[in-house]
Amino acid sequence: MEVSRRQFLSIGPAGVLGGSALGFDLTESIRVKQRLRIEGATLSHSLCPYCAVGCSLIAHTKKAANGKTELLQIEGDPDSPVNEGTLCPKGATSLQLAISRRRVPHPLYRAPGAAEWKQVSWEFALDRLARNIKASRDATFVTQDADGNVVNRCEGVAFAGGAAFSSEEGYLATKLMRGLGLVHLEQQARV
Ligand code: SF4
Repeated sequence: MEVSRRQFLSIGPAGVLGGSALGFDLTESIRVKQRLRIEGATLSHSLCPYCAVGCSLIAHTKKAANGKTELLQIEGDPDSPVNEGTLCPKGATSLQLAISRRRVPHPLYRAPGAAEWKQVSWEFALDRLARNIKASRDATFVTQDADGNVVNRCEGVAFAGGAAFSSEEGYLATKLMRGLGLVHLEQQARV
């Protein structure tokens, strides 16, 4: 079975494998299944949060029987002049950013010298973080440089922001970290 790159993208690997392994073409049934899944869904336009290209996305959502809004699918926006409906592998998995079953929903802590992670409360995690940041800041705060200039900066803590930061989250993080005197500050906030 000869499959071009365009055909592969349109029917997906499951369709290619299903067709060749079973001896008949499942392309149409896979298309129908995808259509049924998002039929009647609300379409919302958004942007991929992962990099500076800023590809446009369409999110499909539906109200579930329990009243909650379910995110069903995210795909590239074919009307976007930036990505014309395509997404790179990272953007194509952005659905998982929101609903992956592999996401860890609670903080984990591995004590110094311990081999195992253990589940802790948010209160414990935030308290521990605050204490460690304060200890490092106090130990490495520099008030004057070698020439006697007043600098008042913290040289022992660095901050790395996430690629999925919104502009607002990036602004908040920068304000907070600058307030602590951090100079080593980087993040990939693009949206
Ligand atoms: S889909 Fe890929 S190229 Fe487009 S914005 Fe997201 S990460 Fe960047």
